[in-house]
Amino acid sequence: EAQVVLVSACLLGEACRYDGCSKGSEKVLAALEGKEVVPVCPEVGSGLPVPRPPVELSGGTGVDVWTGRARALEREAGVDRTEDFRRGARLALEAARTFGATVALLKEKSPSCGSRHVYEAGKLRAGEGITTALLRAEGITVLGDEDLP
Ligand code: SF4
Repeated sequence: EAQVVLVSACLLGEACRYDGCSKGSEKVLAALEGKEVVPVCPEVGSGLPVPRPPVELSGGTGVDVWTGRARALEREAGVDRTEDFRRGARLALEAARTFGATVALLKEKSPSCGSRHVYEAGKLRAGEGITTALLRAEGITVLGDEDLP
């Protein structure tokens, strides 16, 4: 039976990023060959539009968002998007469970999908995004696209 992998939709060529672009990559497609792919975009899934204002973490990383210590804020206007991002993360987890994905391949550096690095207050720092933190807490293995050889 093919392994089921939850994948950031933007890595599959879907133009769902905040800037209206995609991040489709041959490397990602090659890594997914022979696997069953479940595409998710937590931010669009939450109901946010494309394009949308860029969001950064404030007060910590994705893990801290779940403990209530950090927030997801629009970079320029400061609008609080924490609840949208949490809702999107929960929907991604639900998709993983529905389709039986135990592994995820997500877009590095995103406030939702980052797995090693995220932006906090304008700076790239070690940490994971809001969706990644939830998936890992629920036992799903999350890799970033930059982890691929
Ligand atoms: Fe959507 Fe994640 Fe890609 Fe951002 S990084 S566009 S939230 S799939």
